[in-house]
Amino acid sequence: MLKDPVVSPPAAGVTGVAFGDNERLAAQKATRERPSPASPPAVRKAPVRYARKQYWNEPTMTWWEKAYLPEVLRGLAITTGIFLRNMGKWLTGRKGAVTTYYPEEKRVDFAPRNRGKHILTQRPDGSPQCIACNMCATVCPAKVIEIEAGFDPNDPAHPKYPVRFEIDYSRCVFCGMCVEACPEDAIRMQEDVPDLVSDNRYEMWMTMDEMLTWRPQQDVAKPYPPKPVPLTLGESVKRGRGQ
Ligand code: SF4
Ligand code: SF4
Repeated sequence: MLKDPVVSPPAAGVTGVAFGDNERLAAQKATRERPSPASPPAVRKAPVRYARKQYWNEPTMTWWEKAYLPEVLRGLAITTGIFLRNMGKWLTGRKGAVTTYYPEEKRVDFAPRNRGKHILTQRPDGSPQCIACNMCATVCPAKVIEIEAGFDPNDPAHPKYPVRFEIDYSRCVFCGMCVEACPEDAIRMQEDVPDLVSDNRYEMWMTMDEMLTWRPQQDVAKPYPPKPVPLTLGESVKRGRGQ
């Protein structure tokens, strides 16, 4: 039967270190504590000063502009001139002031590419083209679009459709990202702005009905069927809709 090897206790001061290392460590410590007189004293380095970043659009000013005051006075003169000109037009009943009395007056000269009121486009049968995919709501940076989806098993081509589609105009930033994200061209923005005046933010929600009443017959890009002709009483009864 093999006996366990006898392990002798380490000598004092040699705990965990191989024999002979103790002297070497003591010599290293002594060297560290006594710096050699030849080594130069430690020099504290000055903090690195980085050059200020130059921007491509930094203005270069003349000495006249750097003087500051002349330019301030020039700006005040421009503002005062425009104010007096508009005041004169207003006093003499002439048009041309650059402001409008919103909401009594509404501008109509919006640029054709102005991003204003949202509309939901429709299929020729009048149903919304939206497939309730939620892409617009997902991409919206202000998170103001709410969509509730419905399911129509009788329309295999478009089984999903929006039951509720609302936009909170009190928080919409009119960025147009919802229009960009839509895979169906189901949402667009018209140039004129919605009637946003309200003292209640909950009245600034635009509903799906309002977004669908945008006169789709004006969309020349789409063929729309002629207006349906009302049924006569006989036809109505024949189709089971009488009474
Ligand atoms: S225009 Fe911008 S903020 Fe407004 S609903 Fe569309 S994505 Fe959201
Ligand atoms: S409007 Fe377009 S992006 Fe938004 S849910 Fe409808 S189909 Fe999707």
